[in-house]
Formats: sequence, structure tokens, C-alpha cells
Amino acid sequence: MNKTIGFIGAGKMAQAMIEGIIHSNMISHKNIMASAISEKTLEKIRNTYGINSTSNNKEVARMADILILAVKPDLHAHVIEEIKSVIKQNVIIVTIAAGITLANIEKSFGFQVKAVRTMPNTPSLVGEGMSAICSNDYLREDELAEVEHLFHTFGKTERLEEKLMDAVPAISGSSPAYVYMFIEALADGGVRQGIPRDKAYRLAAQSVLGAAKMVLKTGMHPGALKDNVCTPGGATIEAVTVLEEKQFRGSVLAAMEGCTTKVKSLS
Ligand code: NAP
Repeated sequence: MNKTIGFIGAGKMAQAMIEGIIHSNMISHKNIMASAISEKTLEKIRNTYGINSTSNNKEVARMADILILAVKPDLHAHVIEEIKSVIKQNVIIVTIAAGITLANIEKSFGFQVKAVRTMPNTPSLVGEGMSAICSNDYLREDELAEVEHLFHTFGKTERLEEKLMDAVPAISGSSPAYVYMFIEALADGGVRQGIPRDKAYRLAAQSVLGAAKMVLKTGMHPGALKDNVCTPGGATIEAVTVLEEKQFRGSVLAAMEGCTTKVKSLS
């Protein structure tokens, strides 16, 4: 890809994306620049990824063909105010922030700008990210496809209507956190029975990975896959019964509701 990529903000999420982009060899590290506040972060991204880094957001905005806003949602308007006079004419602005809408971005710039709203997640760091994506009407189809192509360097993408984007953090942006809790709990249960901690994490994590692949590769309903594990009168249905009694699914749904309510309060 013959484009320059800028990141404003170089925290956990931006670094996960940068890692994927660098490893894909799709873009030379010389064509990527990121800004952050602390010297610690700037030094880390320089040394780890070999990309240009600066504390000057305008420097990033001046060079970028695709400019990724990777700061916390409450800093968006402030950062846009800072850079709007120096962006390239045909730049594509990409936000990864929860709750920041395309209308928020257009309003902050105050003029027509090509804007893409995305919601990635941190497994991008290992090339297994999941990003939902939508854009405003100023983008051509080939420009949106180009942004998707960039995002494919660190995972998969799914186009969604913008009205559904506030629901995405709960299902894929934040959900790795709940899955880690599940893996940790599985491992604790194994350790309780005497399995060494490192082996317990491997047994638990590989089982979650395998189950996810079964859903994606077989296309079977998750309920049918669950049924296949439950021998009548066996041990698995005992575990499933306890999970139902403890409202496992209801707890997940309630947690997601809390996440979405918070996201909606951010814009
Ligand atoms: P983070 O680790 O706290 O990173 C924020 C970054 O912004 C830091 O590098 C910080 O610099 C930098 N920064 C702060 N003020 C700045 C300014 N005025 N100008 C330029 N850079 C500035 O946060 P994060 O978890 O990566 O989240 C960033 C965004 O990604 C959020 O909008 C969030 O909604 C979205 N997101 C996060 C995840 C996730 O799993 N973490 C998933 C999807 C989307 P220093 O490092 O120097 O402090």
C-alpha cells in the first residue's frame, strides 16, 4: 500500500494495530508515524516497531493519508481542533474510539471530511482482531476497501450500519476482557483440582480458541455444538445445569447492557 499512516495516540489499542501492520509488510515502517504524550510511550514505539514517533500531533496529521484517532473518546474534539488546519486535503480520518460518531467527527472538523468509524479489539496484537467498520458518504467504496485492507493486517472486519456501532464494544471491543475472566476462572478450577497453573491456562485457552473456531468453521448453531458435548446423564450437562442456575447467560447479557449504556454516554 502506497500510503502514509498516522496514529494520534499510541496506547494499548494503537500498538496492537501497529504490530499487525508492521508484521504484514504491507506498509514500510518509514511510512507510519504515531504521537503520544509521554517520552516512555514514544520511546517504546520507536524501539519496538521502528516507526517515527512524536509528541506533536500536527506533525502526524501533516503526513498522514490515513489518520487514525486512537485517543480516549473525551479527547477527540480537542485533538481534532488541534490538527484540523494541517490535515491533507484527501485524508481519511479513522476513529477507533467507543461512542464517537461520524457526526461528532464532522462537527468537530466543521468541514467535509472523509470519516470512518471503527471498533477494533486488542487481539489485533496477535493478528486475530475483530473490527466493526462504517463510513460517511464522503468516502468512495475503494477508499473504504483500502481502510478494510489495512485493518485486515491485524484481523477481520465486519461492515455495520452506524446505528449498530454503539453495540459493538460490548460484543467484540470489550469482550476479550470477559473471555480472559472466563479463562482465568477455568484455570482456577483446574488448579483447584491439582493441575499446575501453566498447564491449566493452556488447557483453558486452547479450549476457548477451539470452541470459537468450531462456531466459525462449522457454521453450526452454538447451542447445537453445546448439545454435542453433553452426553445424556453425563458430567458436562451437570456443569451446564450449574451455569444455568447461576445465570451465566443472564450475567453476560446484563454485563453487555452495562457496557452499551456507558458507550452511549460517551458521544
Ligand atoms: P490508552 O492505552 O490509554 O492510550 C491512549 C493514548 O493516547 C496514549 O498513548 C496516550 O499517550 C495518548 N494521548 C493522550 N492524550 C493525548 C493527546 N492530547 N494527544 C495525543 N495522544 C494523546 O488507551 P487505549 O485502550 O489504547 O484506548 C484508546 C482508544 O481506543 C479509546 O478511544 C478506546 O475507546 C479505543 N478502543 C480501545 C480498545 C481496548 O481494548 N483498549 C478497544 C477498542 C477501542 P501516553 O501513552 O503518552 O499517555
